[in-house]
Amino acid sequence: MDLSDRPRAHLGVWPTPLHDIDGLWMKREDLSGFGFGGNKVRKLEFLLGAAIARGQSRVVTFGALQSNHVRATAAACARLGLRLEAVAVQAVPRADDDYTASGNAFLTELYGATRHVVPDDEAASALALELMAEHGDDLAVVLPGGSDRIGTLGHVDSALELYGQLEFDPHEVVVAASTCGTMAGLVIGLAAAEVDTVVRGVCVSHSREQTEATLRDLLAQTCDELGVPVPDDDRWVLDDSQFGDGYGIPSEAGLRQIRRLATTTGIALDPVYTAKAYAALPSDPELRRRTVFMHTGGGPSLFAYRNDLV
Ligand SMILES: *Cc1c(COP(=O)(O)O)cnc(C)c1O
Repeated sequence: MDLSDRPRAHLGVWPTPLHDIDGLWMKREDLSGFGFGGNKVRKLEFLLGAAIARGQSRVVTFGALQSNHVRATAAACARLGLRLEAVAVQAVPRADDDYTASGNAFLTELYGATRHVVPDDEAASALALELMAEHGDDLAVVLPGGSDRIGTLGHVDSALELYGQLEFDPHEVVVAASTCGTMAGLVIGLAAAEVDTVVRGVCVSHSREQTEATLRDLLAQTCDELGVPVPDDDRWVLDDSQFGDGYGIPSEAGLRQIRRLATTTGIALDPVYTAKAYAALPSDPELRRRTVFMHTGGGPSLFAYRNDLV
């Protein structure tokens, strides 16, 4: 599968390392090398590459107040000379300064985005329509999480890169699943590489049913974009065992994993995504050896959750 003729903005440092740590293999997308890292950087290379190829100079995107995606988009727009309208939705029931003003919220402003804080998705859509009317074709709309048929190509790329680094076929690749672009890209890329591996998506934002609908739609659209068949259903599973109280609300099991990994390896997980995915990993050492954990980043949101952790 060749992605080399696609418009792509160069932002990250590739390949990200694959580390043998804590009894498993960890793909370090947290070290993607730009704008505090994480899994959004690869998506943005394709999304903003396409926007620039269309001649657009302004971007709107959306996310929670502590969105890693919005922060990474702000950094990318700064680098590429694009203006970002960042729509920050009050999706998590937190009004304290740590949550509303530190971590990703702070970084998004530091990177020079215009930040609009709105109460809910309805207000976010209304504002998006206003901005579209005002800026017309000059405005690129980047969907939440950067997950559409173009952004997902970023993780077809990470799957192919991972395949090149592996010396065995993993039993599972485990990844947090929210807007599903990361998971869908991995499923498509690993299927194209004909690796006999199941991608386990750990639901952190929506119910298993809703996440499945999102995933299926994105698989279909991205395969259409690439002109390849949709991978079989047995190439992925969705796991809602760590969903807990929902998006942005830390779980006890996740917080335990953050503290344990921080104090034994110096690696930081985040409470919203990676800690919950980490808590879904197998404990059996044999199985763990054949598991790849996709570390998708999220470190900056730790500052918003410091009181939950220490
Ligand atoms: C956005 C994000 C995810 C989820 O990726 P999706 O492609 O939206 O499913 C996982 N981990 C972190 C740290 C993220 O910021």
